[in-house]
Amino acid sequence: MRGREGLVTCDNCGRKSPRNKAVSYEKNISFGTDPHSGNVVRFRETRKVYYCISCAKHKGIFEKKKENAMRLSNRKFE
Ligand SMILES: [Zn+2]
Repeated sequence: MRGREGLVTCDNCGRKSPRNKAVSYEKNISFGTDPHSGNVVRFRETRKVYYCISCAKHKGIFEKKKENAMRLSNRKFE
């Protein structure tokens, strides 16, 4: 069955993996190029992307998540 719910596409390698095994990651894009004028325009966008386990490991997303969690827990003690 095509387009079944629960399958997400890895943003890096394009592989399909089950949502519960994929790693979601919020990518912040802060600027880009306007395709019409060619000027660099500033905008802020958060795009949610998914990575398969191997890409997440390769990109160090697990470490980033751990770091964020640590930062949040440290803040509580301040
Ligand atoms: Zn991947």
